[in-house]
Amino acid sequence: MATKLKINDATKSKKATATKVSKKRVAKKVAKRSVKKVAKTTSPGSRAKHTTGQAKKTVKRLVKRVVKKPKATSGVTVVDRSELLKQHKPQPLGHLLVEQKLREAGFRGEVSSDPALLNEYSTDESIFAVRPQIILQPKSGKDVETAVRVLSAETKRFPSLSLTPRAAGTGLSGGSLTDSIVIDVAKHLASIHEIVDGANGVTFTCEPGVMWRDMERELKRYDAYIPSYPASKDICSIGGSIGNNAAGPDSLRYGHCADWVASLEVVLSDGHTYTIQPMSYKEYKALTKRDDAYARILKEVVALIEKNEALIQKAKPKTKKNTAGYALWHCINGTVADFKKGKAELDLTRLVAGSQGTIGIITKLTMRAQPVAHDTELIAIPVFNLADAGNVVVEALKHDPINVEVFDGLSFDLAMKNPEFFKDRLDGMQYYKVLLAMYTLYHVRWRRHTPEFTLLVTLDGKHAEKAALKDAVAAIKAAGGARARHITSPSEREMFWQVRRASYTLSKFQDETKRPAAFLEDMTVPPENLSKFFAEVKKLLKKFNVTAAVHGHGGNGHFHFYPLLDFTKQGVGDMVEKMSEAFFDTAVKYGGNICGEHNDGIARTPYLNKMFSKKELSLFAAVEHIFDPDDIFNPGKKVNPRFDIKDTLRRTN
Ligand SMILES: Cc1cc2nc3c(=O)[nH]c(=O)nc-3n(C[C@H](O)[C@H](O)[C@H](O)COP(=O)(O)OP(=O)(O)OC[C@H]3O[C@@H](n4cnc5c(N)ncnc54)[C@H](O)[C@@H]3O)c2cc1C
Repeated sequence: MATKLKINDATKSKKATATKVSKKRVAKKVAKRSVKKVAKTTSPGSRAKHTTGQAKKTVKRLVKRVVKKPKATSGVTVVDRSELLKQHKPQPLGHLLVEQKLREAGFRGEVSSDPALLNEYSTDESIFAVRPQIILQPKSGKDVETAVRVLSAETKRFPSLSLTPRAAGTGLSGGSLTDSIVIDVAKHLASIHEIVDGANGVTFTCEPGVMWRDMERELKRYDAYIPSYPASKDICSIGGSIGNNAAGPDSLRYGHCADWVASLEVVLSDGHTYTIQPMSYKEYKALTKRDDAYARILKEVVALIEKNEALIQKAKPKTKKNTAGYALWHCINGTVADFKKGKAELDLTRLVAGSQGTIGIITKLTMRAQPVAHDTELIAIPVFNLADAGNVVVEALKHDPINVEVFDGLSFDLAMKNPEFFKDRLDGMQYYKVLLAMYTLYHVRWRRHTPEFTLLVTLDGKHAEKAALKDAVAAIKAAGGARARHITSPSEREMFWQVRRASYTLSKFQDETKRPAAFLEDMTVPPENLSKFFAEVKKLLKKFNVTAAVHGHGGNGHFHFYPLLDFTKQGVGDMVEKMSEAFFDTAVKYGGNICGEHNDGIARTPYLNKMFSKKELSLFAAVEHIFDPDDIFNPGKKVNPRFDIKDTLRRTN
């Protein structure tokens, strides 16, 4: 176990009572040396106007001010958003001091405020752009501990200082963006530790920055995979996938990344690393006898759950997939009474996974893997009448599919119009075979009518038996999927998957001067409400006069829409806000949620009140506060939104 002792309380209080005079002295010293640097580290827009004279004044003002941390919430009140926006100041001096303090504390990794690097870390795959002030690239878990300890101390004077972990930066909700300090856990923390093929299956242990594709390659040797793989598996990391609690096609049967976590090593707010894994009541009792941050957190989280059991169950989203809020409903696999009787386990990895780095930083992880399914069979179902879609999906689900994926007519049309797109993705003859399959399907089978949606249903080995497969196809036909077919041609099979996977990228071909914008891309509704939900979505798209290619995980009622927007134009911010309001209301009206797998980030944190009541939101705020009392980890995400959507929108496409 990687648990270490808490820093001595006396040392802590000594640090806290450092005199105002000595603080000023340090600050002045740094300020003198860094006046020019301050001018450099302000935002790009204001940099030109920020003369050295002004910078001197800024530093003087900052040195004078003894900044008070906003009073910590009691843990059960949601902080007023406008207050948070008012309180937030960039505090460049604080950031400069941190650089010095980190070195003094022995931080070995890179610390940089190089403008080019800051620009690089200002965007991810979301629609937002936020410029950080410092980038840290820790070389070890010890460096992460040092960074957290320094931040924890300095944030008392400079409340705007915070640490936002970032891995591959492919997130779609802006989870890894910050105006303070980015801690890049992918650059150096990317070692694979071990793969164990034991009695309970294969497990994989590594640092968080390992890329998903590298893990997949290693696991292949054991004929195993982690079935929660996201579609972005070629470009994302494992740590970031746990941070977002990512999911993908096979999540229909196998759930999110959180379902495959065996244990996590996490640096908590006291700057120490703790191993977090499922535990029995007996283990809980033993652990909570200790005097450290993890023991306190365990006790407080269990007390919070016990006091609010009914409310937590009420808050639990009705959809199978969800990454909104903190998954308090998954922490104990039973009631607290069951847990105390030894009939259930407590698992705080369920809170860390999907927390977007807001409660701690993962420095090592162990995931469980699953044998690869062989002999899978594909049924393709063109749905020409939207009203049939819900029934077809509900029927398909009765046959225990591994996945039920979907793409819309626009995606298929874009694939037909842009055949060259597939040239890089398919080798030699396969390219021509796949295109032939596409054109034959459209001209011959579909008689030049593109269906509203095409559903792809994957059944596993037990359906390899012809009778079972025939039964499944017949039942789907009867449910409204009249033209369902078992796909036997490998080229046609490949063609369907190519179109499904390419839908997002293909949507860019509609108009290359615009961006397929990720903010409505993650809504999920119970599959039985799918047809009605979609009919309303179509009306809304018309009302806002935008087109959006649609694809997603039909079996989970989970759809990715990317409306095409021009981010260089005035008024796009208003449009994003109005569309978010209208679409999210619709998803919630049909029993759905606003983020199935891409998490809350900047895009959805302000809208969580559509899914959760004030009391439920206050529980999330309380959990965050238990883990992170000084709010040093990625503030403004998941709780207490403080990034203004319009102000933080990217200005380029
Ligand atoms: C084309 C495309 C397709 C996508 N498809 C899917 C999909 O099918 N399913 C899906 O779920 N997502 C999908 N995504 C979104 C994204 O790729 C995934 O969520 C991915 O798992 C994020 O991994 P990352 O390494 O890029 O993490 P990042 O974006 O760097 O980080 C993700 C979040 O985790 C936090 N974090 C990172 N590292 C740590 C750490 N060590 N400790 C604590 N917190 C940490 C960050 O602060 C951030 O909030 C897609 C994105 C794109 C561009």
